[in-house]
This record gives sequence, structure tokens and C-alpha cells, in this order.
Amino acid sequence: QAKEVVGNTICSFDAQYHQDNLLRVSLKSQIPKALENQEFRLVYQPQIDIQTKTLIGMEALARWEMQRGTMVPPGQFIPIMEQMGLIGAFGTWVMKTACVQNKTWQNAGLRAIKMAVNVSAQQFSDNQLMAAVEEALAVSGLDPQWIELEITEGTAMQDIERTRAVLRDLKNVGINVVLDDFGTGFSSLAYLKNLPLDGLKIDLSFIQQLPHSATDRAIVIAILKMAKVLNLYVIAEGVETAAQLDFLQDEGCDMAQGYFISPPKPARDLEPLWDEMGQRSQVQ
Ligand code: C2E
Ligand code: MG
Ligand code: MG
Ligand code: MG
Repeated sequence: QAKEVVGNTICSFDAQYHQDNLLRVSLKSQIPKALENQEFRLVYQPQIDIQTKTLIGMEALARWEMQRGTMVPPGQFIPIMEQMGLIGAFGTWVMKTACVQNKTWQNAGLRAIKMAVNVSAQQFSDNQLMAAVEEALAVSGLDPQWIELEITEGTAMQDIERTRAVLRDLKNVGINVVLDDFGTGFSSLAYLKNLPLDGLKIDLSFIQQLPHSATDRAIVIAILKMAKVLNLYVIAEGVETAAQLDFLQDEGCDMAQGYFISPPKPARDLEPLWDEMGQRSQVQ
């Protein structure tokens, strides 16, 4: 309707909007069938201790591969699942599958590592999260110390009193919680200092221009200092180069994850990493 006003610019914006909307509607209609057909699976991305270069964890990341082979990214289907009220059930499936996988590795004699699981805003705010966690623990037999939940700043800040209560419940069970995409939200430091969190994941947007961007160097150093004061460990996400990893090592960042270390992969492709990253100095 605004087409006449600014001509092509608005027209193409309309077209893009229309296309996004069509995609959303089409995905929405396909999700129930896709759940039934089990088109969703998890891949896992390794995390290392930066100082020793040893494998210390994996982040579970959801994938939707449609029957024609098209991959739909989680950034697209997770918000739709939230909208449809399906994220609770899906999140429970993710949690269970990830915990069972971690226990399977332990049972195969591989050194125990943590499994990081993303929790969406809605999943965090409904009352089922604790039940989902307990079900995943019961089904897998995994010790809670080997799970880490990732929530975004927005999720944590939406209702601070509730967040504090949920984090306390999780803490009582022995589960760690980290803030994901840290630096992109609007966390109040006053709130942050009073939340029983365990760690921060620095958003990849602050990592990508390292080490040449003076601004991003300063931001990352500031986050690391703040985290130390707050007694939080720090994970850098989206590490793509040796120079980035070197910088993070020099500045005392605890852990790293990113394509330089490994892309996310299916579980069966990851077992060799225990040998490759078992001791010091494989990724240098
Ligand atoms: P996230 O939790 O911040 O995950 C990190 C994203 O960065 C992943 O994208 C990962 O594949 C990507 N990545 C990893 N290393 C690199 C790198 O070196 N460079 C770059 N450019 N990217 C890298 P992915 O898998 O597409 O997931 C996107 C987001 O979708 C996740 O962001 C998370 O918020 C959400 N998500 C994924 N799986 C789940 C899930 O099971 N449940 C929920 N609630 N959300 C999920
Ligand atoms: Mg994450
Ligand atoms: Mg992240
Ligand atoms: Mg992210």
C-alpha cells in the first residue's frame, strides 16, 4: 500500500516481507508432519578448554532436514514452534536426546564432558522446564553435572524474579546455566550480579573481527574482566581462526567453540575427537 510513496524501495521491501510471510506459513503447516516423520535431529559442536586445548563439552544444535533434503535452520523453525506452542515438547525431546547421547559416550568409555542445551524463552518461562530436565536425567541416567543450559539475556531478563527462582531450582539439582549470545541483549549488570549463573558465552559478533578490531578487542577484554569479578566462566562462540583463538588464550578466556575447532557434526562423527583433543596442543 505504501508502494506509490517511495517506489521501488518500499515495493521490494513489501515483496521480501510477503516472501518471509509465505515461508513462515508454509513451514508452519509442515512442522506437525515433520515431527511425526522424525525429520529433526541433533548435531553437536565441540567446545575446548582454551589453555589446554582439550575437549570439554559439546553444544547440541537442532537440525530439520526436509524429505526433499532441504535444510531449515533452527533460527527459522524454533520461533515458529514457539508460536505454535510446540516448543515445550520439542525442547524436552532435545534435552532427552542430548542427555542420552552424552551418556552413550560415557558408557562407551570416553572421558566425561558436558552437554550444552539451548533453552528458548518460552520453554524457560513455562512451568515444564524442571519436569523436562528431570525426565531427561531419569531417561538417560546422566549425572546433572554434565548438563549445561544456555539461555539468552532476553530470556533471563524477561522476569528477573522468576529467573532467579528457576536458576535456583536448577542449581539445587546440580545443573549449570550460562548466558548465550552475551553482549547482544540488554542485561542489567545490577541483575546479573544477583543471578546464580555459572558462565557467559560471548556472542560471535564480538569474536569475528578479532584480533584486528580495537573496539572488539576492548569489548572482549572488558567482558572477561567483568566475568572474573562475577565469578563466571567464559566461552567464546564463533571462533573461526587461529589468531582469534590465540587472542582469547592470551586474554585468559576459558573455553572456545567455532568452525576453527570444529563445525557441528552428527554424533557418530565426533568420537575421534576424544583422541585428537584428549591431550594438550592438538589444535594449535
Ligand atoms: P546459538 O545457540 O548461539 O548457537 C551458535 C550458532 O552459531 C549455531 O547456529 C552454530 O552452528 C553457529 N556457529 C558455530 N560456530 C560458528 C562459527 O565459527 N562461525 C559462525 N558464523 N557460526 C558458527 P545454528 O545451529 O544455526 O543455531 C542458531 C540458533 O538456533 C542457536 O544459536 C540457538 O539460539 C538456536 N537453536 C539451535 N538449536 C536449538 C535447540 O535445540 N533449541 C533451542 N531452543 N534453540 C536452538
Ligand atoms: Mg547456544
Ligand atoms: Mg550463542
Ligand atoms: Mg548466537
